[in-house]
Amino acid sequence: MNSQILPSPTQVDVHNGVFALKNNCVISYESTGAQTANYLISQLKRSTGFDFKIKTKSIKKGILFKIADTELNLGKEAYLLEVTPKLITITASSEVGMFYAVQSLLQLFPVEVFSSAKQSIKKWEVTCQIIIDQPKYAFRSFMLDSGRQFQSVEFIKRYLDFMALLKMNVFHWHLTEGQGWRIEIKKYPLLTSVGSNVAKGKEQNGFYTQEDIRDIVAYAKSKHITVIPEIDVPGHSEAALTAYPEYTCFQKAPESVMSFSSHLFCAGNENTYDFLENVLDEICELFPGEYIHLGGDEAPKKDWNRCEKCQNKIVVEGLHNSHDLQLYFSKRLANYLKKKNKKVIFWGDVVYQEGTKLPDNVVVEWWNWRRHKDTALKNAIKRGHQVIAGSNYYSYLNFPVTPWSRYKENRTFDLKTIYEQNPSDLENPNALVLGMSASLWTDWHVQEHMIDRRVFPRIYALTEQMWHVGERLSFDDFYAQVKLKYKLLKILGIDYGPAMKTDVSDDFKWD
Ligand SMILES: [Zn+2]
Repeated sequence: MNSQILPSPTQVDVHNGVFALKNNCVISYESTGAQTANYLISQLKRSTGFDFKIKTKSIKKGILFKIADTELNLGKEAYLLEVTPKLITITASSEVGMFYAVQSLLQLFPVEVFSSAKQSIKKWEVTCQIIIDQPKYAFRSFMLDSGRQFQSVEFIKRYLDFMALLKMNVFHWHLTEGQGWRIEIKKYPLLTSVGSNVAKGKEQNGFYTQEDIRDIVAYAKSKHITVIPEIDVPGHSEAALTAYPEYTCFQKAPESVMSFSSHLFCAGNENTYDFLENVLDEICELFPGEYIHLGGDEAPKKDWNRCEKCQNKIVVEGLHNSHDLQLYFSKRLANYLKKKNKKVIFWGDVVYQEGTKLPDNVVVEWWNWRRHKDTALKNAIKRGHQVIAGSNYYSYLNFPVTPWSRYKENRTFDLKTIYEQNPSDLENPNALVLGMSASLWTDWHVQEHMIDRRVFPRIYALTEQMWHVGERLSFDDFYAQVKLKYKLLKILGIDYGPAMKTDVSDDFKWD
């Protein structure tokens, strides 16, 4: 099955005839759909220059948003899109389903419909067809590392727009790192005045004010995207600990590192918990979504093993070792957030070994396929935790198509490898698998201007795996469809890179 839409819909039946959009077209909704109808009008107006008439009743000519009858059994994000010569009908059970129908409908028009200025196209036509569509997973995430490199608010919003087009619904925002603390916390001003500029590069300095955060969360919400903040603890915290060295094991500000170090938040010091709980109070105020990500990856225990307070905590709490101490630390924070009705996501590192049981509001994000294969996936399921599949092979889009900087050959891959070999692309996922993630880390100075060419076009393979239900296209057919999107990417101002190793010219620059 071929269509002009990516990710591919579940079912497309093309018929004869076309719907031609004309000036003064009527767009109508009944009880639900006002928000999406207005969104569609704003998109169509810019490029066509047409005027539109809004009505709130059933119509025979124009574009109609219709709430689905219960017997249609359409899930929250599912939709039915019917194009006939006189009428386009969008049927869904909620605004979000209607929103995804609009994302599909726009892709059926001439691609110039995505332009931000009026285009001189003679015929704004859509081929008659019926589309039935729904996502494979409820959780479809894009992660951006704003910790190692800072990106502007405009850049983040631009990516939220792209995510909506790709029908992704979670923006996982990695806000803290050894190289920078990026979010204003009123109670602890040094986190940003000191922690946001511990690294050397110009693009590595900066932070988001609480006003910026609210603006981004609201913008995301208008596109049906939930923002999940990540406060990575106890490791990857050198920037915060430079600002507040009293929370390290030896009260000493650590060196800033690009990767990670054993300078962790001291888990034996009760003041650490007070500090982090106060931070989380402000985080929960700013992010109304269901989830908070607390990291938990790559925390070597050298300092904890030598720290009197940490070792004492292990004895007092009857823990086995320093790994178990991290589970105790994670459990305390997860329980704190449980009282605020939040679920907590940790990276897979927390389930590699046996130890203290984590509470039932913990979700595990499986990432380290390169070193641990599917250990995190299996162990999380065994312990009854929900899982997000985001294995570094092949969901880390910062791994370029060909080697660059410290990314050697074994940390490169292309569109075909993602499409055919991604371990996270599970054929019959366990019911505990909540969804998938795509990630863009910014280590080794992946600056703002280098991100598009890493993310695009390869993210199309990942969103196909997150969204599409049913039989897949062959790779060659899929790649042909991706290439048809290059014109759209150009119109959107996306500086897309090569898809395949064989497409990379000798003079191509990843930076
Ligand atoms: Zn300690």
